Amino acid sequence: VARDALAQAHLPGMTADGVAVAVQANLAGVGEAAAAVEAGAEGCGLLRTEFLFMSRGTAPSVEQQRHELQAIVDALGDRPLVVRTLDAGADKPIDYLDQAAEDNPALGERGIRLQLARPALLDAQLEALLRVESPQPLRVMLPMVTGADEVAAVRERVVALRERLGLAAELRLGIMVETPAAAVTAQRLARHVDFFSIGTNDLAQYTLCMDRLSPGLAKQLDALHPAVLAMVAMTAQAGRDAGIEVSVCGAAAADLQAVPVLVGLGVRKLSVPQARVARVKAALRGVSIPDCEQLATAALACESAAAVRGQVRAWQASTG
Ligand code: PEP
Ligand code: MG
Repeated sequence: VARDALAQAHLPGMTADGVAVAVQANLAGVGEAAAAVEAGAEGCGLLRTEFLFMSRGTAPSVEQQRHELQAIVDALGDRPLVVRTLDAGADKPIDYLDQAAEDNPALGERGIRLQLARPALLDAQLEALLRVESPQPLRVMLPMVTGADEVAAVRERVVALRERLGLAAELRLGIMVETPAAAVTAQRLARHVDFFSIGTNDLAQYTLCMDRLSPGLAKQLDALHPAVLAMVAMTAQAGRDAGIEVSVCGAAAADLQAVPVLVGLGVRKLSVPQARVARVKAALRGVSIPDCEQLATAALACESAAAVRGQVRAWQASTG
């Protein structure tokens, strides 16, 4: 990273024409939170809570979870934190959960589906979240959502827990948009949630029908495929219409060829590995919204991810 970019990493993310695009960090542990703040992250847009489960031989207790979450909140100070509930299964197996063998685990009982099938797991996580002391309401994000019924089921459990435990904490409830079902029905889902975060890793996997674990398909599994971009566009539009925040927390958020396209599609928050924060902020400072919008329109009309990348390269060369 250029010295210039590092020096400016602590300024809020912003385009050349002064539109705020927040750059947050993806975290998977307490240790990373301080590093993210040092790197200039404007909070955490995705805390992958699988780390709480993978580092031990049995599910963590409410108190163990609360303790680790509190440490992360404290490290972030007044910066916002989005905590994703357990996304176990498929590419994130947790042995002791003893999930039944499935022919297609990526299409199986994973993410929110597993948690709704095992309410004790979900309740323990929600209770830990309700017990964390935070300067602002914690944001809780559900993985692999396909419909509003899943959101409603979790909301009911939050209400029941608050009542049963006598806890007053407020939680903001949002979802990962990472299934085509969620993207295509984003207009309706937006009425049920406080925010969307687009998971381009799984959204690309499920839109393109390419297993993210397949080495043979890795080159073709590209979130800049126009079909994936169309899903992002729908989600961003739905978020705008409903007045809720739309971020991107998949790997595309840190891909410098994808950043101007995502911004052009209306995304105003990116969550990236902390080592990429400075670079993404520097990229944002070099582009304007009208230019990004023009690029996004051209990208949506392309016939392949390769063509989109060609467009972006030509655009980057011409805009300097
Ligand atoms: C995604 O799917 O894009 C995402 C951010 O979640 P994960 O990579 O943890 O599945
Ligand atoms: Mg995912």
